[in-house]
Amino acid sequence: MKATAAVCEAAGRPLRFREVEVAEPRATEVLVRVTASGICHTDISIMQGKIPFGLPGVVGHEGAGVVESVGSGVTTVRPGDKVLLVSPSCGLCQPCLTGHPALCAVPALRWGGRRLDGTAVLTMDGEPVAARFLGQSSFSTYALVEERTVLKAPGDLADDVLAPFGCGVVTGAGAVLNVLKPQPNQSVVVLGAGAVGMSAIMAATLTPAARLIAVDMVPERLALAEELGATDTINGAETDDLTAAIKDATGGGANVIVETTASTKVLRSALPALARGGAMGLIGAPAAGEQVSLPVVQLIMGAMRIEGIVMGDGTAPFLQALMRLHRDGRFPVDRLVRTYPFDRIEQAMADAESGKVIKPVLTFGA
Ligand SMILES: [Zn+2]
Ligand SMILES: [Zn+2]
Repeated sequence: MKATAAVCEAAGRPLRFREVEVAEPRATEVLVRVTASGICHTDISIMQGKIPFGLPGVVGHEGAGVVESVGSGVTTVRPGDKVLLVSPSCGLCQPCLTGHPALCAVPALRWGGRRLDGTAVLTMDGEPVAARFLGQSSFSTYALVEERTVLKAPGDLADDVLAPFGCGVVTGAGAVLNVLKPQPNQSVVVLGAGAVGMSAIMAATLTPAARLIAVDMVPERLALAEELGATDTINGAETDDLTAAIKDATGGGANVIVETTASTKVLRSALPALARGGAMGLIGAPAAGEQVSLPVVQLIMGAMRIEGIVMGDGTAPFLQALMRLHRDGRFPVDRLVRTYPFDRIEQAMADAESGKVIKPVLTFGA
């Protein structure tokens, strides 16, 4: 099967649209005609060379589409089904077997660039191209993925809104609903009002938390955060004491802090604003190796928790619940999305980088 993919040939170079050959589905594989793909910062980091991945390669990991064909052993979807592509998982390791597929202990499924047996999924001019990026490689008109990476989606959910559920949306919403779980009358502070932060805010409106505080430096984002349910906002560009601003907005300290900015400076400023018994979830990843020193005694005496969260610890039933909430008008992901035709991918990336657009989503002509 031939496909058109946006190929990253070397770090820092513009993407090139190339014709690639997609392998035939094996027994457990599904060939998906991609109809929409969100752009996430991890994709951009690969292209900038900040995170290693095989090159030439095809990234993209917020795909949605229609099943084109399936391998002989596939049972959960069939040709014609609308599907969301999700985080890959093996189904056999300890995290997978205990209900945490987002923590799957087989990193080669995410970063390996090929099938686990080493064979190529994509080739270009007869040579292998790294694919299966985070299980997907959705910057391509077709993606060949494992059955566990596809989730059947409601037929009436618009493809461009569906696509980001697989990473940005589940990451923010899951951090709040699956991991941090704010309790009645508590305060939730979300650092960074991008796609992940906005998803966290929308999810927090579904909890009994009383105050939802969005922190960002872009006034338009803070305005949207308020429309989506934030009760208060803090413009980080207008305060030189973020710790005090958070304490002030929360009446003494935040019960829950969701860190999505990837800035250790922001993290350091927010940490002392955690309330007794509070929890901070770390989602935004700074450069590998970056460290922050901790006020150990205060953390102990305040019974505070700091934890890393991957993909919102999401599961298939959780994603299905989010899709239902969206359909019922209680989780308006559509407010975050701006679409671009696939051939405008460079513009979409630039707009994501500049912060002009919260969630750029590529659409693929039929
Ligand atoms: Zn992502
Ligand atoms: Zn696993």
